[in-house]
Amino acid sequence: MSKSIGILGGTFNPIHFGHLRMAQELAEDLALNEVRFIPASNPPHKNTPSVSAQHRAAMVQLAIESNPLFKLDTRELHRSGASYTLDTLQSLREDLGHEASITLFMGSDAFTKFDTWHRWQEIIQLCHIALVPRPQTNVEGHKLSKNLETFLHNHYAEHRDELHDAPAGLITMRQITVLAISSTAIRHALQQKNTIRYLMPDSVIDYIKLHQLY
Ligand code: ATP
Ligand code: MG
Repeated sequence: MSKSIGILGGTFNPIHFGHLRMAQELAEDLALNEVRFIPASNPPHKNTPSVSAQHRAAMVQLAIESNPLFKLDTRELHRSGASYTLDTLQSLREDLGHEASITLFMGSDAFTKFDTWHRWQEIIQLCHIALVPRPQTNVEGHKLSKNLETFLHNHYAEHRDELHDAPAGLITMRQITVLAISSTAIRHALQQKNTIRYLMPDSVIDYIKLHQLY
């Protein structure tokens, strides 16, 4: 059987236990061989992050280095311009081949805006998508547009094992331990001089202090 790989793209500004626990549970639930964490250099839907891509990637590396399943993938940092997921997936396919099963992890907040992503309908030809719940961060909640509801319906996988038998094209919704942690709340806590203990690995907290980030 060919490889099954999970990918988690994000700003990781900074990485926290919400990202790590989601990646761990999906890796086990979907029996993946590897999970790649892919920091964005210039996220298209966000302002330029306050902390450099190098620092954000270094924090990811510290957070995952004790876990043999987890790998840092810095391909977006070597590309100029906006970090489009479609380009990243095309480049991953060149490395991993057409047989590998690739699953893109996404929180429900990210999925509600998925139909605004660059050439979003082509993304599903290159990977599966695993959706996980994310606690509501605003009053509108995570309501899906008609476009996305149809998209979800058309690609919905009845059983998680189907993701192993195809390289791409399916969407699955998985239950995980829901952690209401966000990088935004962590940055606010740091600005208020509140503690960020127990929200992310101590190695990341030490790095933030050492480099006086946020
Ligand atoms: P920010 O508040 O700066 O947007 P964030 O905490 O949302 O940061 P991102 O780097 O934007 O983190 O998230 C990358 C991916 O991880 C997205 O798909 C997002 O939905 C998902 N994610 C982030 N935090 C969690 C969490 N606590 N539980 C589940 N998924 C999460
Ligand atoms: Mg976010």
